[in-house]
Amino acid sequence: MDDYVSQWLEEQKAAGTLRKLVPHERIRGGRIKLVSGAEAAGPLWDFSSNDYLALTEHPEVIKKSREFLEQYGAGAGAARLMSGDNNLNHLLEESIAKLKGKESALVFGSGYMANIGVLPALAGRGDVIFTDRLNHASIYDGCKLSGAQMQRFQHNDVNHLEELLRDKRGKGRALIVVESIYSMDGDRCPLRDLVAIKNKYSCQLMVDEAHATGVFGSNGGGVIQEEGVVDQVDIAMGTFGKALGSYGAYIAASHDMVQFLINKARSFVYSTALPPAVIGASLAAVKVVEKGEALRRELFAKVGVFKDALRENGIGGDFGPSQIVPVLIGDVAKAVNAALSLRRQGVFATAVRPPTVPKGTSRLRFSVTRHLPDEVLKETAHLLGRIL
Ligand SMILES: *Cc1c(COP(=O)(O)O)cnc(C)c1O
Repeated sequence: MDDYVSQWLEEQKAAGTLRKLVPHERIRGGRIKLVSGAEAAGPLWDFSSNDYLALTEHPEVIKKSREFLEQYGAGAGAARLMSGDNNLNHLLEESIAKLKGKESALVFGSGYMANIGVLPALAGRGDVIFTDRLNHASIYDGCKLSGAQMQRFQHNDVNHLEELLRDKRGKGRALIVVESIYSMDGDRCPLRDLVAIKNKYSCQLMVDEAHATGVFGSNGGGVIQEEGVVDQVDIAMGTFGKALGSYGAYIAASHDMVQFLINKARSFVYSTALPPAVIGASLAAVKVVEKGEALRRELFAKVGVFKDALRENGIGGDFGPSQIVPVLIGDVAKAVNAALSLRRQGVFATAVRPPTVPKGTSRLRFSVTRHLPDEVLKETAHLLGRIL
């Protein structure tokens, strides 16, 4: 066994695909300081965080979290179906249902847990799940775990999806699952077309709004709200760990669907409820994003500054419609070197490479957050222009 492990590590190292942790100290205001290595000298601006609205440091979020910690203690002590069903969970579920415009909601331990719990509850042997090729690993794993037949359609290609549905829909249950904003490219799914197809072929539609909730929609209700298709989406999933600055996840759906998942989603049933401090932070964050037009406007102004600066520095490409800005490099080594070079100059951005993205499409992924000053956005684009 040890041989297998060390041999595997050697192989990954040789191929340049070994993942490693990079410990750092977080400095408030969007910076991190690496604790070892040659780059540890100065703090780095964090272009890798999903804390889009900077809510991890919002005073209301911290206050509520502290309040609940003091009042209710550090942990939940048990799963919801045992003695862990502190009423705080229900308050959070009511507020997230309202934010998403759905009847009901259910909180999960994390987005990963939500996806691997919900998909096997909704589909099993004899059923088919139609899933976008670029869906997050947690969706892929949920499909696998369900035992349903998995049909993967080309990214955002509704024609390919319809072809597959015509051939492979079958007579069982069928589910289409997509992300509204894709985590690696920052592009958007064709939601209205998907709704039309879902209705035509009598499927259920599940939309993962991990990168959209809080950021899109007039009240932060996500892309499903912005596109006016809330009622057509059977399951809206999202997380508290990204724009909401906290931790955990939720699904918003009909009352019956939530009752069904309370019984059927194993990652819900067999896992300890979230700690009170986390629920406090999430509750406050939902309130902040509901009234967060100004925050969203500020974020997208920064996104505009960054994209303009990239173009001014000769970096072309389709930067997409969201706060996630991919700069396509192609070659793995070139992408890794560009990331290293940026790091030496005070910028922390991640090189995204296979297997996370298709071969030959290695890229730098910049996520813009409200933490980043305009000057830093401009300077970073300038640095990148010189490197590439
Ligand atoms: C981050 C993410 C998840 C997982 O959420 P966690 O709360 O981090 O476990 C699921 N789906 C998508 C699309 C994500 O980006």
